[in-house]
Amino acid sequence: MIDLTDVTKVYPGGVTALAGVSLTVAHGELVAVVGPSGSGKSTMLHMLGTLDRPTSGRVRIDGHDAGALSDARLSALRARRIGFVFQQFHLASGASALTNVADGLLYSGLRPAERRQRAAVALRRVGLGHRLHHPPHALSGGERQRVAVARAVAGEPPLLLADEPTGALDSASGAGVMTLLRELNATGTTVVIITHDQEIAASLPRQVRMRDGRLVEDTVVGPSGADRTTTGAVR
Ligand code: ADP
Ligand code: MG
Repeated sequence: MIDLTDVTKVYPGGVTALAGVSLTVAHGELVAVVGPSGSGKSTMLHMLGTLDRPTSGRVRIDGHDAGALSDARLSALRARRIGFVFQQFHLASGASALTNVADGLLYSGLRPAERRQRAAVALRRVGLGHRLHHPPHALSGGERQRVAVARAVAGEPPLLLADEPTGALDSASGAGVMTLLRELNATGTTVVIITHDQEIAASLPRQVRMRDGRLVEDTVVGPSGADRTTTGAVR
């Protein structure tokens, strides 16, 4: 699903956010990305999500070499294959939950009625069938993040990327959102979650640790519960 090879990112001004990251994630995995603030987690997620291009190195997503695609083709790849969830929800405040989710399908090629129907299905899937017409301000934080998750998955992308999805939530709401992400993974969606919640990270089958723009540890919990940890240069 994901194949990063020696990816670096140097921001204008000279900050090296990624100093050579290689990472492979198979279809159907559920991966936690952990590490201190400033270690390059969000930058790596931007690379995985094709939201930004690397300074050097190769990014392959679902068999497509992102570096070889024009901006237009990259947008199409993103719209069809990748869902995003962020810490701060990013919902339109004046619009209902249904409209927020339906607008996430604007570039799907679907007709408006079909977009609204799919949006309703996605909202029911996240347990918000009774909140379709509520605007964000009438929803709790946990419900807002569920709307954002519904928007991310309404188009049924094979890959879901989440940057601190529970960071703005109380622990009960956060646990609800995590349950939802696990359920999506169980139905086949590949999920990558940045978190600095140790408990959440430890509960996921694979943890990738970053420090100073490098991937320094990759732990996979086997079916027997035995850990297999790789430290250093990680593939
Ligand atoms: P994390 O998500 O682990 O906190 P980031 O990927 O956001 O880390 O940031 C990694 C480094 O890159 C930090 O030093 C940060 O200040 C810098 N950085 C992130 N985004 C930008 C940007 N758009 N322009 C310049 N520097 C950036
Ligand atoms: Mg970040």
